[in-house]
Amino acid sequence: MGFSVTCGVRWRLTVRGIVQGVGFRPFVYQIAQANALAGWVCNTGDGVTIEVEGDEAAVRTFLQRLQHDAPPLARITALETTPIPLEGEQQFTIRASGMRHAARAGIPPDVATCADCLADIADPANRRVGYPFTNCTNCGPRFTIIRAVPYDRPQTTMREFAMCPVCRAEYENPGDRRFHAQPNACPVCGPHLALDGQGGDDAACIAQAAALLRAGKILAIKGLGGYHLACDARHADAVQALRSRKGRAGKPFALMCSSVAAARMLCDIDADAEALLTAPERPIVLLPIRADAAIASAVAPGMRTLGIMLTYTPLHHLLLEACGGPLVMTSGNLSDEPIAYVDDEAHTRLGRLADHFLTHDRPIHLACDDSLARVAAGIPMILRRARGYVPRTVTLPGEGDLPPVLAAGGDLKNTFCLLRGREALLSQHLGDLENPVSLEHYARMVEHFSAFFAVTPQIVAHDLHPEYHATRLAKAWPGVVQIGVQHHHAHIAACMAEHQLTGPVIGVAYDGTGYGTDGAIWGGEILLADYDGFTRAAHLREVALPGGDAAIRRPSRMALAHLLALGLSVEEASADLPDLTAQEAAIIAAQIARGVNAPRTTSMGRLFDAVSALLGVCRTVTYEGQAAIELEVAAGLPARRYPFAFDETADGVVMDTRPLLAALRDDKRAGVQVVEIAATFHATIAAMTAASCVRIRAASGIAQVALGGGVFQNVTLLEEVCALLHAERFAVYWPQQIPCNDGGLALGQAVIAARRTNALCV
Ligand code: ZN
Ligand code: ZN
Ligand code: FE
Repeated sequence: MGFSVTCGVRWRLTVRGIVQGVGFRPFVYQIAQANALAGWVCNTGDGVTIEVEGDEAAVRTFLQRLQHDAPPLARITALETTPIPLEGEQQFTIRASGMRHAARAGIPPDVATCADCLADIADPANRRVGYPFTNCTNCGPRFTIIRAVPYDRPQTTMREFAMCPVCRAEYENPGDRRFHAQPNACPVCGPHLALDGQGGDDAACIAQAAALLRAGKILAIKGLGGYHLACDARHADAVQALRSRKGRAGKPFALMCSSVAAARMLCDIDADAEALLTAPERPIVLLPIRADAAIASAVAPGMRTLGIMLTYTPLHHLLLEACGGPLVMTSGNLSDEPIAYVDDEAHTRLGRLADHFLTHDRPIHLACDDSLARVAAGIPMILRRARGYVPRTVTLPGEGDLPPVLAAGGDLKNTFCLLRGREALLSQHLGDLENPVSLEHYARMVEHFSAFFAVTPQIVAHDLHPEYHATRLAKAWPGVVQIGVQHHHAHIAACMAEHQLTGPVIGVAYDGTGYGTDGAIWGGEILLADYDGFTRAAHLREVALPGGDAAIRRPSRMALAHLLALGLSVEEASADLPDLTAQEAAIIAAQIARGVNAPRTTSMGRLFDAVSALLGVCRTVTYEGQAAIELEVAAGLPARRYPFAFDETADGVVMDTRPLLAALRDDKRAGVQVVEIAATFHATIAAMTAASCVRIRAASGIAQVALGGGVFQNVTLLEEVCALLHAERFAVYWPQQIPCNDGGLALGQAVIAARRTNALCV
């Protein structure tokens, strides 16, 4: 190929974002070739640097294609172009990686097996037929196998596997789909399976594992980001055994299916849900369950939705094919512990839970759970952000570099957040820090991420709750500036940051519990907020939280508190709560009357709990949010609305739900169907929220609403609130890429702390 550079130009391009491990350099090579350009491309600690030389029009075409035709997994967050002197180079080359600078290069998330690789493992003539570790530049493990940047094979857990000559040739050929695919492997040179320690034949391992699953055994299966516990979803005894061994009473199990068609046998799947289910991130998607779904009832007792993910590694594809039906695939852990991912530790921790172990010899460097998502108002909404999404960053509004902030997050559904440049980097879901194993994992991950991303935190943001483990760790951090951030302010700031909002918003923060600036337990708050601060524009009327945490586990306690607030006697109030003994009811009433062990709360989550208990939907909670989730499940089509009242006070508008509860109780006593009452309750909360926002807009002139807090995982409520606010011509934003629950808290803490150090110049 001839190059004419007589009237040419030479440009240096610096590209940042997720541009390593996603086939970016071969793509650059190809578009340079197509435009007859000379020069080179190179991975750096910073991203990718390119120099191109040739005809100016061709260079411009190259630049356009670079931005518009980049590989599907690439994300360009910054692109700088600098004209430099011509060098008269005659060809385009891919250079070896540069020095290890401060690691700004985005690390890609793990990616589900691509269609080409699936075709390879299904093709009897292909050397990778049936090979469970097949991958290419477009798919395979990334985040979970990378030990350091830049992302090159020696820096991954694949460094122990020396490529065979055939794999090496693929790896070095810019025209090959496996060019510089760091985890590239084949049956000759790559990782292999072992069943209960017996390896040597991958096909036999898969066939035996499938036979064991069909026979009702529970298997620990090593996956991408950790171990799963798996069993046949149709095998009632197996599912029940898994429940009791895991110590998990009611919380639904996720399923893995081999295809959309297989998932359709279990759930109704519309186009939006199908797109989410088949996305390369392969989250678990919450889907409406079909009445005729052929699975054991213990998979998701009492649920109207089922969590389904599609197979995302070649091992999963091969195993599901051999099993012929859906598998329960739940995180390999005891309830509330982090997922097991190190082989020896997994054998110790899962030995009592699993009958057999299907493992392999590719080490997992970082644990990463399956992500969880659902579709709300036609848009995907991530509820647990981990595999497939992490470590993708969120670009924050404004300009200039942000200070090195670490935000510690909350104690439940913990994630933490680091700021670097204009990017916010949220860790994967780390679980509940109340568990000592989780807490230790958390501390290790903070250390790892800080080193990995070359951030030395100088500012540590934390929740105001003095008892949070995350808060205690943050406060014990030596030599840093500590900034406390109110819980609901953080929820709203997280939503604002995700949507790149700069101006003030009406922030509707509905969740279970969050420490208020007055020491009370907040959770039904409407704030006027920006990154600088907030005022409490409206909140639910306070009620007692009798027994503190005991009220969270026993929603009937909460129902009693709400009913006593109506002025009912203890006998009247407890008449609808048969699980409370007369003695218990009397003790609770006395606690409330004397204000002993009965903090005040404005929690919206607890109001949902109370209604759930009053209606007899859920009176004992075995997992977080259960009563509210089951109440949403019980809601039919909304028909009516209950009354509610507003009180103007010095502390903002008080949303009084006593008229609502009185009318709801009357309906229950009149024998109105629970589905109708539950639906009317949802519609009323949505209407009360919209009416509050209208009042606040009239007083403030602010017409954009940001939603946050775990209560908005309730899609029935979310969609109704959005519809009513849109009808009132509000601009409405809700968390989509970042969880609305406490899994997104750290992002809000980070941006507020950055702003408070006066650096978030928006
Ligand atoms: Zn592939
Ligand atoms: Zn090989
Ligand atoms: Fe919260």
